[in-house]
Amino acid sequence: MPHPSLSLLDDTSFTSTGLDVANPANGEILARVRTYDRADLVSMIERADVARRAWQSRTAKERAHILRDWAELIEAQRDGLATIITLECGKPLAEAHREVSSAAAYIEWFAEEGRRAYGELIPGLGTDRRVVTLREPVGTCAAITPWNFPLAMIARKAAPALAAGCSMVVKPAEATPMSAMALERLAHESGIPHDLFRVAPVLDPVEAGSLFCNHPLVRKISFTGSTRVGKLLMAQAAGQVKRLSLELGGNAPFVVFDDADLDRAIDGAIASRFRNAGQTCICANRFLVQASVHDAFVDGLARRVAQLRMGDGMTPGVNVGPLIDAAAVARVSDLVTTALAGGARLVAGGSAVGNNFHEPSILRDVKPDMRVAQEEIFGPVAAIIRFAEETDALRLANDTPYGLAAYLYTGNNARLWRMMESLEFGMIAVNEGLLSSEEAPFGGIKESGFGREGSRHGLADYMTIKYGLIGGLAA
Ligand code: ADP
Repeated sequence: MPHPSLSLLDDTSFTSTGLDVANPANGEILARVRTYDRADLVSMIERADVARRAWQSRTAKERAHILRDWAELIEAQRDGLATIITLECGKPLAEAHREVSSAAAYIEWFAEEGRRAYGELIPGLGTDRRVVTLREPVGTCAAITPWNFPLAMIARKAAPALAAGCSMVVKPAEATPMSAMALERLAHESGIPHDLFRVAPVLDPVEAGSLFCNHPLVRKISFTGSTRVGKLLMAQAAGQVKRLSLELGGNAPFVVFDDADLDRAIDGAIASRFRNAGQTCICANRFLVQASVHDAFVDGLARRVAQLRMGDGMTPGVNVGPLIDAAAVARVSDLVTTALAGGARLVAGGSAVGNNFHEPSILRDVKPDMRVAQEEIFGPVAAIIRFAEETDALRLANDTPYGLAAYLYTGNNARLWRMMESLEFGMIAVNEGLLSSEEAPFGGIKESGFGREGSRHGLADYMTIKYGLIGGLAA
């Protein structure tokens, strides 16, 4: 019997065999959801490839209207969707509400942007010839998504795909399939053809990934998740030279200079580090703080961390929920213990609590070569490193194979531009702690991947360019 708050999902979503979905806040099994095997996935891909032909031949305006209806339905069902997100992924309900709105905003944005997939007429090549470009949908796409934004990560892949005229089959994360299933249901209710957009929870993600990479009808794969799995998919996708978008891990530096507005920097630090209990790929992972403001920053941050309330995300006032599972807590604990053994000092928190919780924590005197500064923490732990000069900050910040997001706090405009242009990351937030929005191109460089989500670039990722040469035009 599924949890009563799952009324957005219909009975066929649940079966006696399938995937057990647990509430990370208390371990309760929320439901057992229906899963799909390899043959089901093959059939979904084949049907999606048929469905896209009709979809693609509709006008962009017709597609836009249907997508807009989907966005409106999502907003109308915000409470139900947010509840599912919090129940299966653990984040505080207020954050889940923001995620739902963000998902709707991406869909609305791409509904509009889909109507502006302009080609070009390029001059040159002589008076009797013309060069034109047409932008066409990539084709049938597959997506593999993570549990930390179980709704928005799918919306920001599916919306540009559908707006461009593609179809999509999504394999959601095993921990959080129900947000995805609810999203699919609302898509179909709003008029998106059934076979065009499918969500398929599976028991074996490795097999699903391999199928997506090896099925000839899949023309593109969009993946958000770990760098490890991203590399596996990239290697497999090479066999058929499939297009890829990879949004992988990060190790975001958060650089605070002595000319920064310190209160603003502390606000940004709280938002960036502790949102979703530190489980986002753009979370500030290493705080690099200039020596003369170091102690004031640490004290200010400690005061704010002391006010954070940890608990079940469904409880009003809670702003740090559980981590996704016990393994995640064990990993974060290990990073903290190893840092302390290496000479870091604890300013706040430091301990695992209960099954799936980890206290919001601050470590100071962290050394750049410690694992806590080298690896993605994915937990509510702020690791603080002191630096002397701008050149030191830049060197430390760039000293990582990752290149997703970086944060920079300064009141000096010349420094702002110098740093922004020298930091090797796909996204730089200056004097801001949150940076994802549907209008902006989200994505990384280096081992954080490639491809962009949001903005007009997000649409371009689901389109190909066809060049046409038209000759024989002499009078
Ligand atoms: P995380 O550690 O955050 O769970 P993963 O990269 O393991 O990150 O998971 C992100 C997504 O990738 C999930 O949907 C998961 O099921 C999927 N996944 C995990 N391993 C593979 C694989 N070998 N091939 C394809 N997808 C995978």
